[in-house]
Amino acid sequence: MDEARAARRRAGLVRALRPRAADSPLLDLASNDYLGLARHPEVTGGAARAAQEWGAGATGSRLVTGSTELHARLEAELAAFCGAEAALVLSSGYAANLAAVTALTDTTTLIVSDAGNHASLIDGCRLSRARTEVTPHADPQAVRAALTGHDGRALAVTDSVFSVDGDAAPLRALAEACRAHGAALLVDDAHGLGVLGDGGRGAVAAAGLAGDADVVTTVTLSKSLGAQGGAVLGPARVIEHLVNTARSFIFDTGLAPAAAGGALAALRLLRREPERAARAGDVARELHERLTAAGLTAVRPDAAVVSVRAPSPEQALRWAADCREAGLAVGCFRPPSVPDGISRLRLTARADLTSDQVDTAVHVITATAPVC
Ligand code: PMP
Repeated sequence: MDEARAARRRAGLVRALRPRAADSPLLDLASNDYLGLARHPEVTGGAARAAQEWGAGATGSRLVTGSTELHARLEAELAAFCGAEAALVLSSGYAANLAAVTALTDTTTLIVSDAGNHASLIDGCRLSRARTEVTPHADPQAVRAALTGHDGRALAVTDSVFSVDGDAAPLRALAEACRAHGAALLVDDAHGLGVLGDGGRGAVAAAGLAGDADVVTTVTLSKSLGAQGGAVLGPARVIEHLVNTARSFIFDTGLAPAAAGGALAALRLLRREPERAARAGDVARELHERLTAAGLTAVRPDAAVVSVRAPSPEQALRWAADCREAGLAVGCFRPPSVPDGISRLRLTARADLTSDQVDTAVHVITATAPVC
């Protein structure tokens, strides 16, 4: 451990926690609060009421005392919103991915996993002890090739929107490849829910795959819904199987009532104000257009994440620090969180940003850019 610490120090890659002040004056383009709901009074009110009614914690695992009527309501409304037959709420999106991958596989299953998948899907593959073939990023032909010739059970696994670069997976083509080979498809829609699809119903719904008997979706309640927690959505038989076998569900304390109440209030708000979903995408496209027009290299966003290339990890870090100094919080992704070795600023386009705030963000990022 000490050697690893020293190496990190030498490479300038040490990370440290930076506690955020409740009244931070920074303009936030770093969080995943895509719809600006984390502090919406209806959402915080829903969380507070739930804590008062049900307690500060769930008091036990879901199969013992940790399932409340609130959890059941959230599951029913999430499933209906996303067009799934059933849903199961877990304490995080991370736990939802571990649960979904391990429950859908056994040691004889072939898992085909996109090279850009989130760490929680990768860890699910590792935990499953199934043979995992990693395919090149967003490449349905490669998925087809990997599935060809495999006889037994198979599962393709992908993020819907990749968390680092904000690009979308070719879900329809992936579903077709799976269908052709009798494989199931697991989609992590963490960055699609609330942003993509009709009224924010997510990337799976947008691809016409909601309710498909061979598609299982995971979501997080911690991004567009501004709360905390995760869920698996899919056929009722799959959800029943998860309840009975998924270790990250069975051996974990149920989602805290405040998080469930906050997420439920956010979901209801989104149903009432569906225009919030499209606005996040509009802001992302505007940021991308204006930053690339200013000479920066950015990936064309398919949802609310805008990824801007930095020339080196050191410059990425300095750039983010300069933005911060100028009043703008941005994400800074660098190795080892990015396996491709490319450092970038990661901006999140919130639906509640005003045009003045977008102007400020563009101005600060371009004025502090190392490559301009
Ligand atoms: N999947 C993806 C694609 C994510 O970006 C994240 C969060 N960073 C997760 C899963 C995990 O969700 P949670 O934070 O709710 O554990």
